[in-house]
Amino acid sequence: MQPDGSEPLPLSRQIDQLADQCVKCGLCLPHCPTYQADLTENESPRGRIALLQALANGQLEAAPKLRAHIDHCLLCRRCERVCPSGVAYGRLFDLGQQLLAQDRRPARAARLGLALLTRPVGLRALVRLIVLGQRSGLAALGRGLGLGRHSTLLRRGLTLPRLPWPRSLAPHYPAMTPRRGRVALFTGCVSAAADSRTLGDTIAVLRYFGFDVTVPATQQCCGALHAHSGQHAQAEQLAARNRRAFAGEFDAIIVTASGCASQLLETDLPVPVRDAVSFIANQSWPDSLPVRAGDETVAVHEPCSAQNVLRAANDIYPLLEHIPGLRILPLGDNATCCGAAGSYLLRYPAFADQLRARKLAHVEEQHPDRLVTTNIGCALHLQSGLVEQHNLIPVIHPLTLLREYIEAPA
Ligand code: SF4
Ligand code: SF4
Repeated sequence: MQPDGSEPLPLSRQIDQLADQCVKCGLCLPHCPTYQADLTENESPRGRIALLQALANGQLEAAPKLRAHIDHCLLCRRCERVCPSGVAYGRLFDLGQQLLAQDRRPARAARLGLALLTRPVGLRALVRLIVLGQRSGLAALGRGLGLGRHSTLLRRGLTLPRLPWPRSLAPHYPAMTPRRGRVALFTGCVSAAADSRTLGDTIAVLRYFGFDVTVPATQQCCGALHAHSGQHAQAEQLAARNRRAFAGEFDAIIVTASGCASQLLETDLPVPVRDAVSFIANQSWPDSLPVRAGDETVAVHEPCSAQNVLRAANDIYPLLEHIPGLRILPLGDNATCCGAAGSYLLRYPAFADQLRARKLAHVEEQHPDRLVTTNIGCALHLQSGLVEQHNLIPVIHPLTLLREYIEAPA
């Protein structure tokens, strides 16, 4: 049922209608990373739209080649950002995957991965094992022995940056300066298990800015990976549970990972969804909150989700300018995806690494002291690439950086 009470159109009709908005001008082609790499129509946004429309209309079958062209898409949504006709490519892609999933069950590994995202206890146990492997030196030994040569999953695991031990959050945190409001924190599945540092720093900054922070215990994964792989029913279940978890008197739902924020924006939650950096950047700086001066160069990686979906990637710059003495640079070629792209780095490791290599070349050229990004997937992918190069530059969330420089109120 639609929000206005009407029945939704059949899937194929929805795809056909969205695809009809494409006037086939081709202006998106030069912006698409897979087209840039392959230079064939089927690896372009316009080609994928045509393939999905032909599939929806029954002119083409869901043959392996067609599926491969659709699956190769990074879902960076650069094409959507530059499209003059406003084609909703992201929506079209998810509907297309839903259609393709009707007669294709996801592979076993994909099913296990998606199931793990909805089981926080299992995810935390896995992260604890990884942390133990890292702290005991086993991960470094495995890397040294080249154990990841024959398994993408193992290579990705062995080159993960040092993760913090997962820690639990309290249900409520009170404001530390004159109270401005009350927000709810979305912790995410991977962030909650593997990035407690960013969550802790975000809570601290929100409290310094005068917000009470609530962390709803029954919240769920945002469902992005389920939606993008055609598992619509699972994505809808997660959305429904999040709608219940976040029903309350909140000014906003604060999300630290821009990828999750992008998905939650399309989830019809009862409270406005705000990217954490954008939310803080749009607050007036509290009088009672001093900031220390810095002396370092920070490069800003702008995730595709922040640029092309949230369209708020620029909010980070004025926020970091509150730190005197900080030299802030956009990372070169920010418009192109880093290759992380959800599960893409596991499904197409060679192309994901090729895209990442372009980013790392810019890191080498610009030589920042630290790199910041608002998306956990991009952070882990970039930091892993640096680990492989024995480069110790840390990749952190911008609010972690900000918190370091703020002198906490007594
Ligand atoms: S998606 Fe937009 S930019 Fe690309 S070909 Fe269609 S109308 Fe043109
Ligand atoms: S989402 Fe990105 S990879 Fe996919 S068609 Fe659009 S520009 Fe290309």
